[in-house]
Amino acid sequence: MSALRPQDKAPEAKSAQENSLAAADAGPFPFVGTDDASLRKLAILDEDEAFIESLKKLLLGKGYEIHAWRPGEDISAFLREAKPHMILMDTEIEGKNGFAICRELKGDSVLGSVPVLFASEKTSLKDRVEAVRAGGEGYFVKPLSPEPFLQALELMGVPHPDVPIRVLSVEDDPVQVAFLRKVLEGAGYLFEACLQPEEMLETLDTFNPDLLLMDIAMPGFSGFELARAVRQDSRFLMLPIVFLTVREKVSEYIEGLQAGSDDYLVKPVDPEILLNCVRTRSRRALLMRTLSNQDSLTLLYNRSSLMRQLDGFFSRAGRYGETLTIGMIDLDGFKKFNDTHGHQAGDGVLRDTAHFLRQKLRDSDVIGRYGGEEFVVLLPQLPVEDAFCVMDRLREEFASKEYTLPNGESVKVSFSGGLASFPNDGRNRETLLAAADAALYVSKRAGRNRLTIAGS
Ligand code: GH3
Ligand code: MG
Ligand code: MG
Ligand code: MG
Repeated sequence: MSALRPQDKAPEAKSAQENSLAAADAGPFPFVGTDDASLRKLAILDEDEAFIESLKKLLLGKGYEIHAWRPGEDISAFLREAKPHMILMDTEIEGKNGFAICRELKGDSVLGSVPVLFASEKTSLKDRVEAVRAGGEGYFVKPLSPEPFLQALELMGVPHPDVPIRVLSVEDDPVQVAFLRKVLEGAGYLFEACLQPEEMLETLDTFNPDLLLMDIAMPGFSGFELARAVRQDSRFLMLPIVFLTVREKVSEYIEGLQAGSDDYLVKPVDPEILLNCVRTRSRRALLMRTLSNQDSLTLLYNRSSLMRQLDGFFSRAGRYGETLTIGMIDLDGFKKFNDTHGHQAGDGVLRDTAHFLRQKLRDSDVIGRYGGEEFVVLLPQLPVEDAFCVMDRLREEFASKEYTLPNGESVKVSFSGGLASFPNDGRNRETLLAAADAALYVSKRAGRNRLTIAGS
């Protein structure tokens, strides 16, 4: 499973899915294997060996494969061989200006599309702007802070290349809809239209768009009114709304802004302008949504996102007769682990536990951090007995792993879990979570490092 996963969408998840680096160890335990074909390749162009070593340590077991360039090596040949998903480079390499090197790479037909991130000791705005001008996608000051850096790497995968962006048009003119469909589907977007504004709310729920294109003059409603109604629902606060209209009055532009629009395009709209508007607005909204759904330590879904996805499941379950098993996982004796080995070592274990679960579970499973050292997994379409087999194998594998602490000492960690399934153990979010929690408690009481099925 990839370290990067499609991002969840309130209200209904369409897919499953999330301090100096050199000094303070942020948890690079050699924990999970590197047998994953979907590892993300990061090429590093930097002469500082200590920096490369610290990066390797930080990224170990987190789903990345590192290719470090060696001084003297031809950069372009090295990159062609490494075929990286992204490049991290210094702003000066072998006396050469890093920005100039980046500019050269950006002009290359093969390497030009690979995102470049800079890591440099330089802190000025001038350098950051130089990086932007050279086509750099990110800039980090050394020594790197692990949390924002790991998060930035994760965000490089948004939008997920395998998950098309969804655009919904609310528009009463079929000719206009046909034009939008042609342009947007031609560019790889998933497109849906509401020719009747009355259908808008239902389609927002079922289609779950990443961006809304809104006509203004429609029978019965104005686009302004519809936009306001959409914005009143907190689930759609971050949904980009773009007005598309033949009208060009200043007063209406202002009304559009007041209704919460993000952009205002005048028909007939140039396809290039439309595509650029949709691309930039939807990407930023996806990034913001990813950040707001993510737990920053583990990069898993945070509690509120997890709860929204659970609610989304319940709102669909009745309609489609879906089943769901949820698992609540809690690390054993973790207070003592922290007391003995320190909080930073504890943070490292939490990060690695998260990566372990992501790597081992299906893409359609949702994994979130429920609390401090508690995780919840949502396993759709999996009967509780099957879920038990899967999770119990994971529990065993997890408990047998050895962590090497920074002082060289080896330690083991285990978790306990409780499983509960819909509809048998609970018919809403609260009752299902309570049933899983009660089962977890049974596992703890029975001696830890075990799983229990609710009601057994
Ligand atoms: P049990 O086996 O009964 O679950 O024992 P426990 O010690 O794991 O449970 P307890 O609830 O007493 O302690 C949970 C510990 O988890 C306490 C807290 O320091 C630790 N913890 C919670 N969040 C974090 C975190 O973000 N980082 C670190 N390092 N530790 C955390
Ligand atoms: Mg109209
Ligand atoms: Mg706990
Ligand atoms: Mg615990």
